[in-house]
Parts: sequence; structure tokens; C-alpha cells
Amino acid sequence: DGGFDAALGAAWLTAAADAVAREAERLSMLDAAIGDGDHGTNLKRGFAAVAAKLAEGVPATPGAVLVLTGRQLISTVGGASGPLYGSLLRATGKALGETESADVAALAAAFTAGVEAVAKLGGASVGDKTMIDALSPAVEALRAAAEDGVPTAQALDLAARAAEEGAQETVPLRARKGRASYLGERSEGHEDPGAASTALLLRVLADAAA
Ligand code: ADP
Ligand code: MG
Ligand code: MG
Repeated sequence: DGGFDAALGAAWLTAAADAVAREAERLSMLDAAIGDGDHGTNLKRGFAAVAAKLAEGVPATPGAVLVLTGRQLISTVGGASGPLYGSLLRATGKALGETESADVAALAAAFTAGVEAVAKLGGASVGDKTMIDALSPAVEALRAAAEDGVPTAQALDLAARAAEEGAQETVPLRARKGRASYLGERSEGHEDPGAASTALLLRVLADAAA
């Protein structure tokens, strides 16, 4: 169990660029139902820029990999999700500090700081039908895995599963934040695109760690 190190971070984010490109149409379709239909193209542009940056060189620590990624997303993704995912990764990276490799407990603590940054920036809570509905159960699963002494790959699988369930649970909800909230009750019956992309990104991380 090598933990979460710079190599795993880079492998994750490079694979994420491929996954987001592959799933861009699905993510944009979800956004077309309750938003403006650009979530897939927004993330595709952002993660392509991240992968290009990592191809030039991978920083020495996982924290620096995430901070670089967050910065790229903020500068290249138009739309709400850029600053939100950017803050998530930047705050998670900063919380990892100078560590060469984070164990599950350190990763859970850092990810908690990242999710708190998203909640602070966007003002959303669980149940508002946003990416928080996938991020929050994922971070809880990671913390529980740390307490149970679960190894990294299995802990990340549990986090991805929790995010997938959280994303599914957004379907009946009425959006209270972001563009989808303008639709009021017409936002009910659709999966939130940001929760869906969070589940995708965490599944790619679990696969990279497996
Ligand atoms: P935009 O809505 O600006 O077009 P995107 O389509 O890329 O941006 O992203 C939309 C997603 O961003 C939503 O599905 C939701 O998950 C997330 N989101 C929007 N506003 C907020 C917020 N205030 N807090 C948390 N997440 C949000
Ligand atoms: Mg959109
Ligand atoms: Mg938009």
C-alpha cells in the first residue's frame, strides 16, 4: 500500500482527462436537462489542460499535483464547476502539505478540508442537489475507512461507491443552488451533473489505485 503519492495523483488526473472526454456528452446531457448543457465540455476543457500540464512534468508531492490541478481548472473552466472543483483540489492539496505519500487518514483529513472549501465557496449543503451530495458521502466513507484501517485502494473504492450512491440520490431532489435552482420543481427527476462528475472522478481514482 503505497498510499496517495504524486505518481498516483498524476495517473488519476491523466486518466480523468480521458474519462471526462469519453463521458462529456453524457455529462452535458444531464446539464441540458436542468442547466445550460455545458458541464461535459467545461470539464473536458479543464482536464485536458490539466493532463497537458502534467505531461510537461509531475510535481514531487501529491499536494503539489492537486494544487497545480486546482489552479488549471480555475483558469480554464468557465462555469460554476471550475472554481468549485478548483477549490476542492487546491484546498485538498494544501492540506496534504509536504507529505510524499498520504495514508488513508491523511487523505481523508485533506479531502475534508477540500469539501469544506467547496461548501464555503458555493454555500451548498447536502440535499441541495449539487456536487456536495456526492462529495460529502465520499469523504465520510473515506474517514470511516481510515478508522477501520482499510488499505488505500479499498478505501478509495468505498469512497467512489458512496459518491455514486449520493449522485443517484440527487435524482428526486429539487435544486437549491446553481443554475438548476432556477427551474424550481422542474429540476426534480434528473441527476445533478456535478454530482455525476464527482462520482466519475472518484471512480477513476479508485481504478488508478487498484
Ligand atoms: P454552470 O452551471 O455555470 O454552467 P457547470 O455546468 O459546469 O457550470 O456545473 C454545474 C454543476 O456545478 C452543478 O450540477 C452542481 O453540481 C455544481 N454547482 C453549481 N452551483 C453550485 C454551488 N453553489 N455549490 C456546489 N455545487 C454547485
Ligand atoms: Mg452548465
Ligand atoms: Mg455554463
